[in-house]
Amino acid sequence: MQSKELLHRIVLLNKEFDRSRDFLAKYRWFVSPEDSPKWWGGLDSRDEIVISAILVQQTRWEQVEKTISEMKRSGVNDLRKIASLSEKDLDSIIAKINFHRSKAKTLIEAARLLIKSNPSREALLSIKGIGEETADSILLFGFNVRTLPINYFFRIIFSRISGKVDSPKYIRDIVLKQDFSLFELKLLYAGLSTVGKANCKRVPVCNTCIIKNLCNVGTGKADYTTIHF
Ligand code: SF4
Repeated sequence: MQSKELLHRIVLLNKEFDRSRDFLAKYRWFVSPEDSPKWWGGLDSRDEIVISAILVQQTRWEQVEKTISEMKRSGVNDLRKIASLSEKDLDSIIAKINFHRSKAKTLIEAARLLIKSNPSREALLSIKGIGEETADSILLFGFNVRTLPINYFFRIIFSRISGKVDSPKYIRDIVLKQDFSLFELKLLYAGLSTVGKANCKRVPVCNTCIIKNLCNVGTGKADYTTIHF
């Protein structure tokens, strides 16, 4: 997709996502003031965003919420506390999370990094267990850095919207070169993640999709079975 058309489509997508705040909230994305931690599952702090962004990989969000609540009750829902724990102790606290042993290690390493300085993408990516989407999510939603996480939903939805496969890096670079605000970047990610979970599955459910009029598959101009990404 041409960059001008892509940017126009993003503006229209965000208008639709903004109009659909209640729908996004059903999927635990809360449209809020741009620097609020509430966007990310309604959590209360930057530290909880970091913790949950690491715990949620290959784990259901509902389980992450329960674990965060337990951590809050035990007073270990902040990075300073986590940085001082042993891997064994943290592992027992997050035991209901998938891959808890390796995540305990990752979380302690991230906590020790983040209590010392504001993070860079490179520093986060150097920690085993933190990939690009997690690093960008921590930066955007936790530290209010202008970046754009790319996930599976982002790739599949943009391919279907345009009817052809653009590289996620191409899309991300174009978006970040523009002056989209933090609010707009968060809204785009939250909206795409919601649509991905609710409708844009392997076999898409287009008839109830909030962005069907902006999508080549939704409007019948493209056939999803011919789009491989
Ligand atoms: S209209 Fe269909 S293909 Fe397009 S984003 Fe929605 S669910 Fe996906």
